[in-house]
Amino acid sequence: MPILKTKIVVVPLGDVDFMIVNKLAAEIGPVFNRSIDILKGMKLPTEAHNVIRNQYYATVLLSKLERTKANSREKVLGICEEDLYLPSENFVLGYSDHLSGTAVVSLYHIRQEFYGLPEDDGKIYPRLFKETLHQLAHIFDLTECKNSKCVNYFSQIMLDIDNKNPRFCDICRRKLTTQV
Ligand SMILES: [Zn+2]
Repeated sequence: MPILKTKIVVVPLGDVDFMIVNKLAAEIGPVFNRSIDILKGMKLPTEAHNVIRNQYYATVLLSKLERTKANSREKVLGICEEDLYLPSENFVLGYSDHLSGTAVVSLYHIRQEFYGLPEDDGKIYPRLFKETLHQLAHIFDLTECKNSKCVNYFSQIMLDIDNKNPRFCDICRRKLTTQV
């Protein structure tokens, strides 16, 4: 009997554009060769909200996401519109923990760059897609890639994200395909 591959479960956190969630869920499945479930959604937990910073603590969101897992091998991806932080960072676009198999990505800074300007819809989705692949790569045990064109390259500024390809380099892809 073949071993069933782990699912990726997508969880909208708070109010998120459902079209974006659906598109993202449909496109990440084939990349990781996994089936995808989309959960109905979860409220953003108030205990993750830092009132002083007016941001959400990414680590707390991951621990909440972990509780939605049906089994230990499932991977969970949360998507939100809110601003995320870690104590050591002003903000993060996304965060993940490979031990718990959870990741979260935020549209906040991806959209915020267009503050005062018309939003460039053509740029928002590709950036979210790339950041999502980057975070999911971590939970599939890949370390960050040194190739600036690889989607698994660390990129905190939008220019770096825009410049990288929406796919893994050959080395990263080989590492991913060796996983069950
Ligand atoms: Zn790579």
